[in-house]
Amino acid sequence: MELFVLNKNEIIKKLCDIIGKEFVSNKSEDLFIYSQDPGVSDPRPVDFVVMPKTVEEIQKIVKLANEEKIPIVPMGGGMTLSGLVIPVKGGIVLDMKRMDEIIEINESSRYALIEAGVTTGKLQAYLEEHHPNLEVSIPDAPPSVTVAGNALIHGSGFLSQKHGDHGSMINGLEVVLPNGEVCKLGSCALSKYWFTRGPIPDFIGLFISSFGTLGIATKLSIKLYPKPKMRYLVFGLCKDPKVLPNLIYNITRTDLAEDILIGIQDKPAWMKGYVVIMVYITGDSEEELDSKTKLLKKIYRKGKARYMKAPDRYYDIFLEKPQFAAKAADFRKGGGFEYVGAFIPLEKIPEIIQIGNDISLKHGIIPTMGARFISKTHSAMFFISYSFNRADPKDIENARHALHETNKEVLNIGGIPWKSELEGQKLILQKMDPNYKMLLKTIRSALDPNGIMNPGNWEVN
Ligand SMILES: Cc1cc2nc3c(=O)[nH]c(=O)nc-3n(C[C@H](O)[C@H](O)[C@H](O)COP(=O)(O)OP(=O)(O)OC[C@H]3O[C@@H](n4cnc5c(N)ncnc54)[C@H](O)[C@@H]3O)c2cc1C
Repeated sequence: MELFVLNKNEIIKKLCDIIGKEFVSNKSEDLFIYSQDPGVSDPRPVDFVVMPKTVEEIQKIVKLANEEKIPIVPMGGGMTLSGLVIPVKGGIVLDMKRMDEIIEINESSRYALIEAGVTTGKLQAYLEEHHPNLEVSIPDAPPSVTVAGNALIHGSGFLSQKHGDHGSMINGLEVVLPNGEVCKLGSCALSKYWFTRGPIPDFIGLFISSFGTLGIATKLSIKLYPKPKMRYLVFGLCKDPKVLPNLIYNITRTDLAEDILIGIQDKPAWMKGYVVIMVYITGDSEEELDSKTKLLKKIYRKGKARYMKAPDRYYDIFLEKPQFAAKAADFRKGGGFEYVGAFIPLEKIPEIIQIGNDISLKHGIIPTMGARFISKTHSAMFFISYSFNRADPKDIENARHALHETNKEVLNIGGIPWKSELEGQKLILQKMDPNYKMLLKTIRSALDPNGIMNPGNWEVN
């Protein structure tokens, strides 16, 4: 279908009528930033950017987009690095920044009801100030990313080992469907409490990792958790990645760990040839932390790893929430990086480390990898990061090849690339059960017959 044959002046006038001229633009200087992201994707053209404030405004924009067949790309912080908010077929970028109200914190049922433009930084700061006994799991991403954008891509953070990925922490969702109607999902569909997804048919999952192709989330309820009094970090070190599946399995057999991360990097030099293990523990007293540390040391020893007392500054860096993950990346001159984040089964950790090493070295990139274990190791999010110089097109192309090869290898070993860019999405679709694809296509064309929602992503032909 040919999208978007229209008179741009007419459209801009209609958009201004809907949300006011200060929140609409088609000026190239405003669109520039929306036509690209910090990853390796080439810039792509954007026709309009809008910043709505209300659900009603979004409804009107969606209705207009249907009439005129204009693509819409919902955008939170725009920080996936994988080009997910750079329009594939032009159209409107719907920037959610202004919808950033924290509507309610329910202390007893432990959830936050927020608008979809609320950033992780804002919610975290709000809780620290007003509800110091509660915390929200956030990614180690810049605090400008949105809680919704992250949860809607199966993101994960420091409570994911205990409580699952962030998509599973969504209790309720309000969405503007592609036809412009508002729909509430979860208990909020029939109760004033946004406390659970069930026990009714659960459609929230449809909106997770569908990259804005099925609607625009406007509100969500996200789970909060009791904040521990104390948090500490127990570093471990091992030489042979083959010991990792058993070791991590044994750590998660206990209730010792809040979060488990591993890091594999050739830089700084002391890390080369080792896997650094970081287990976060929590407690109410020094004694509790000490006893958990002792138990972990035992598990490390039995698992052919060893405890490592790290320099003090490491504890400061890694106990920060969010950790500034980019500190760990091997930035080249020009400072770019993008990673394949692969959801893989625990047993594939040694294999993927080898894959990451091989592909990095083949492309002349210093190996930089790591993982976060999700929900008692029901899966791991393993990232392989490729740095590049933003000012050097050849270097960007090199990283792009490395990413593409990695996606293929991840799929070969039975994993799934996460928040994948267009090429990766195509690889996933090629491998996917045909009936899954058909279901995807059927749901999508039923909800969005004009194909206006982030077209080009998850495109099943
Ligand atoms: C240094 C660094 C470290 C990182 N560490 C982590 C980490 O530890 N864990 C982790 O999970 N991620 C991590 N990331 C990735 C990053 O957290 C996510 O990409 C980011 O959280 C996504 O949120 P966003 O607001 O930027 O979403 P966007 O990039 O704006 O959007 C993501 C997708 O969701 C869609 N979308 C956004 N908002 C809506 C909406 N309201 N309705 C419908 N669809 C919508 C978009 O169309 C897009 O397809 C890291 C990134 C960086 C740069």
